[in-house]
Amino acid sequence: MKKFLLFLGILFVIYLIGINTVPRYIESERNPVKALGPYQVSQEAQALYDRLDFIADLHCDALLWGRNLNKRGEQGHVDFPRMREANVALEMFTIVSKSPAGQNMQSNSEDAFDNITPLTIAKGEGPWNWFSLVNRTLSQSEALAEFVENEGEKAIFIKSKADLENLIEARKSDQEVIGAMLGIEGGHALEGNIENLDVVYSAGVRMIGPTHFFDNEFGGSAHGENLAGLTEFGKTAVKRMNELGIFVDLAHSSPAIVDDVLAITSEPVIISHTGVRAVLDSQRNLSDAQIQKIAANGGIIGIAFFDMAVGTPELPNIIASIKHVRDLVGVQYVALGSDYDGSVAVPFDITGLPLIVDGLMNTGFSEEEIRAVMGENVKQFFLKNLK
Ligand SMILES: [Zn+2]
Repeated sequence: MKKFLLFLGILFVIYLIGINTVPRYIESERNPVKALGPYQVSQEAQALYDRLDFIADLHCDALLWGRNLNKRGEQGHVDFPRMREANVALEMFTIVSKSPAGQNMQSNSEDAFDNITPLTIAKGEGPWNWFSLVNRTLSQSEALAEFVENEGEKAIFIKSKADLENLIEARKSDQEVIGAMLGIEGGHALEGNIENLDVVYSAGVRMIGPTHFFDNEFGGSAHGENLAGLTEFGKTAVKRMNELGIFVDLAHSSPAIVDDVLAITSEPVIISHTGVRAVLDSQRNLSDAQIQKIAANGGIIGIAFFDMAVGTPELPNIIASIKHVRDLVGVQYVALGSDYDGSVAVPFDITGLPLIVDGLMNTGFSEEEIRAVMGENVKQFFLKNLK
């Protein structure tokens, strides 16, 4: 009996060591940064950056890895202290609940082994999260709520227009106050139950992408097997999201879903992290026709920083993608959608955002245009469209 207890004790210690080291290791492998800060930019670019009062990013998966976002991390791309260093006002934190093994851009099966299951166990989450996508989603929602809570008056969980107005007001006297929004990548998180929309809304979710890397109850993924449009469930869900005030995020959706959502939505859409086909002809990227339709819908397009969105993940390709949207439909439709911490290699972490200003300046963007891209567009979009 004693020996058995000792054995259990040893197992428990190994488990404790595991939950502290394994997720850290996986994250460091999955989210490399090409160059660590501090980053060098021209004096003019830094001066312009310092004049920006509202910098925003539409996509970040930092919640997935179980890192404490109240502390400055030694790895990964985003946490609250680094948001402050970069003077970022608003970050959209997105929840990944299932991700297929062998994940690729072309074709993934819904039935592939799920990589998030071992990560969930390695993070030390309870068995109730091992097999339930909605429970995983609610755990990440609660984690964000707790990180915000831990900051006292220095952070605001943005769920309404009033919250955003409070953030803008608070930052007039204290730029340390940051805002966090919450989204979901992939409607499979609802497990096919429409009532779960109300559940995640209550948990603070204000944006959902119908599909992530595989086809689900909503319809086809850009990287799935059927490339289908919205199912009946998907259509019902989009209408309910419109009523509740949850934005539809068309990143990762099949072209047919993009069309179907734009045909039925009563609200403007978000493409939270994408590239454009004119710069990189990848199947997750937007064609010119899609960009024009999204602009006509009053939507907003976040340009991502990683390879399958912009090609080699370097500043010039990010800038070229931003410039393409501006030239095609106007600067008011383009924003930052980094995909930080989204299992991607990026050229710089969030403290490197002044490099974007440098790149935009060198490409002939005016200060007004740079202000718009760096966050003003996101601010105006949510002021207009958040309920
Ligand atoms: Zn993504």
